[in-house]
Amino acid sequence: MDSEIKSILKRNLEDVYATMGAACARVDRSLRDVTLVSVTKYVDSTIISALYDLGVRDFGESRPQVLWEKGPKLPADCRWHMIGHWQTNKVRRSLPFVSMVHSIDRMELAELVSAEAMRIGRQIPALIEVKLVGDEAKHGFSPTEIREEIEHLNRLPGLSLQGLMCMASLEASPEACRATFRELRELRDELNQIHSTMTEFRSLSMGMSDDFEVAIEEGATHIRVGSRLFEGIDR
Ligand SMILES: *Cc1c(COP(=O)(O)O)cnc(C)c1O
Repeated sequence: MDSEIKSILKRNLEDVYATMGAACARVDRSLRDVTLVSVTKYVDSTIISALYDLGVRDFGESRPQVLWEKGPKLPADCRWHMIGHWQTNKVRRSLPFVSMVHSIDRMELAELVSAEAMRIGRQIPALIEVKLVGDEAKHGFSPTEIREEIEHLNRLPGLSLQGLMCMASLEASPEACRATFRELRELRDELNQIHSTMTEFRSLSMGMSDDFEVAIEEGATHIRVGSRLFEGIDR
């Protein structure tokens, strides 16, 4: 691969880490508590490999068929995060590549992923996608639905429920997204208070290229960054 592409990637990645570090410092959090999920839906496996060589291991994909296409081409220690809408007929084939699902957006999917995970002898770390007011997402549970369904979700044996995910509005300014991020955090805290047995329910997947700093300030544990990493690269 072009060495210029590699150096652009390296610089972009360093920029993102520096920005993450600054956001953490502002709110007295540790950078270790925030996972950068590099969203690779825009790029092919050569560019993903270059990111791998730069030390990246957490990759996010929104289309399940890409997981079974790109997954086998990359080293086995890559952690693939499923972040997009997952059609039920694609679960079986892509699940073996998935380390964590961020987009459990309906009960039918939760039940299916749980059953398929059990079938292959795994328990899949999973986040519930929440549709908040003013939010971009077409999919997801409303806060009311989650409050009603959380116990059932928590009992599904093939899922290890670890928290919540949201997509803030793409048009809104980062500051306007802050309210959405805060709402997600408060919902997580509320669910934790009501269900004291959900000891692993801590994660918040929120924040993308334009608003991840604000998301970190509001408690994001996973940020999903795509375009910012690939700025300046023809794709
Ligand atoms: C594409 C995508 C992202 C990354 O968006 P960027 O603005 O390119 O950083 C994050 N989350 C989801 C669910 C996506 O589909």
